[in-house]
Amino acid sequence: MGIFRTLHRSFLILFAVVVISIIALVHFSISKMVAEQSLAQQKSLSPALSLVVEQLMQPLHVSETLGRAKELQDLMSSQDIDEAAMFAMLKRLESEFGLSFFVASERTRMQYNSDGSKLELIEGEVSWYFKYKDTPENAIADIGKWENAHFYIDIKIFDEEQQFLGFFGIGKSLASFINIFEIYQREYGYDFIFVDQQKDITLSSDPSLLARDSTFQNLADLDWVKQAAPNGLNSTSLNNTLISIAENDFLVAEIGIDPFDWTMYILTPLSDRQAAVSRTFIISVVSLLVLVFALFLLIYNLLYYFKREMQKNVQTDPLTQLPNRNKVELRYAEMLDRKHSVSLLLVDIDHFKAVNDTHGHNAGDNVLRQVANMLQSELRDEDIIGRWGGEEFVILLADTSPEQAFEVAQKLRERLASMTASTGSLSLKVTASFGVSHTEVERPLVDILARADDALYQAKREGRNMVKMRLIDAA
Ligand code: GH3
Ligand code: MG
Ligand code: MG
Repeated sequence: MGIFRTLHRSFLILFAVVVISIIALVHFSISKMVAEQSLAQQKSLSPALSLVVEQLMQPLHVSETLGRAKELQDLMSSQDIDEAAMFAMLKRLESEFGLSFFVASERTRMQYNSDGSKLELIEGEVSWYFKYKDTPENAIADIGKWENAHFYIDIKIFDEEQQFLGFFGIGKSLASFINIFEIYQREYGYDFIFVDQQKDITLSSDPSLLARDSTFQNLADLDWVKQAAPNGLNSTSLNNTLISIAENDFLVAEIGIDPFDWTMYILTPLSDRQAAVSRTFIISVVSLLVLVFALFLLIYNLLYYFKREMQKNVQTDPLTQLPNRNKVELRYAEMLDRKHSVSLLLVDIDHFKAVNDTHGHNAGDNVLRQVANMLQSELRDEDIIGRWGGEEFVILLADTSPEQAFEVAQKLRERLASMTASTGSLSLKVTASFGVSHTEVERPLVDILARADDALYQAKREGRNMVKMRLIDAA
């Protein structure tokens, strides 16, 4: 039963290996996918953030810094504003920073632009000024019209007594943003949408989303937003949601831009990412399949090996390693199929009980093994010898006449009688009686065996250590 224990153990080990491999592979694939995801996320976010810093934060910083300049405060607080000096300063800033600057003065209710133009701030006409004047924020980002649509940063300016002097600000034309967005979109393949507090779209890489004639499009009105946030944007964050626009999948990242109270949405197309993730997935699945296939092969070979071993065990006598009764029966049928005749010799060791009784069972086993070896060594390759029972052997001789079979039996009997079996320090002599039978037609083994058994019985009765033959036709 050792084989079963080994088989059982092998299966347990194999099972453990399969389970551990699958867990390891799943763990590996998931880590790889998450890493890939995070990398892609980061790749899309970092250029977007530098865009925000360059295009929004730097102008804010510039305007805040310049807004604190003494020269500006002096200009804005003087009773009679020196327009020439004001325009000169704005012009200088424009050429220095490459941006449009303006000053909106509370004192003169006049807006001075760096392009040299000015505009009267009349309530009801220039709405932004009167709207933002009374808000608590000191820096406001806005989209407005000045010849063409502009993005403005308005900074409130106060004198030393905290008296409101007006606004100082920067304007960037939306057309310049669209150019920059186009470059980013080409390079990194994603879209931006900036919205203000009311979720009105202020800036976007999609020109069709931009404000026209100071009417804004609201983010909540976009179809994909309605689908992604059916309960409205206040209750749902769009961060990390998957959306579909014109049958293309995008991943949305939502980033707050605090100084303006704006929110930026980055829409990253998933096609590249899907390719990367699916590549990882395919590699994992293929390695898993290879592993499973290798294990299957291993199991298959093991089973095959055990099956063969077990078959051998089932058909082999463990003491003498000779074919057992089952095997002999099979071989007899095969032999009759292929050959014209079969002669059968039944061999029974004489007084074998006495060997056991006198020298012990182990000595008996040794003698049995040596007799088996000797008999086998005297036979041709095509002959078959098997252990029939206790101290009985059966020998099948193909295409051998009864007379030849009788002679073979005589020869074997003589060899056996002259052989000395040794066990431990003992030397033992044994003899055997032989019964011979023969068939030239197909008939059951028991029939021919019964004749040989009769002959053997006769040999025993007549004194042992002799060969007797009983043929079926003669019976
Ligand atoms: P006979 O000449 O009439 O054949 O006498 P015998 O003693 O050989 O015959 P019997 O059938 O009375 O006894 C056969 C003995 O063979 C009985 C048993 O102890 C012994 N024997 C059978 N199988 C084995 C075996 O595998 N090992 C050993 N040591 N002895 C066996
Ligand atoms: Mg016997
Ligand atoms: Mg016997």
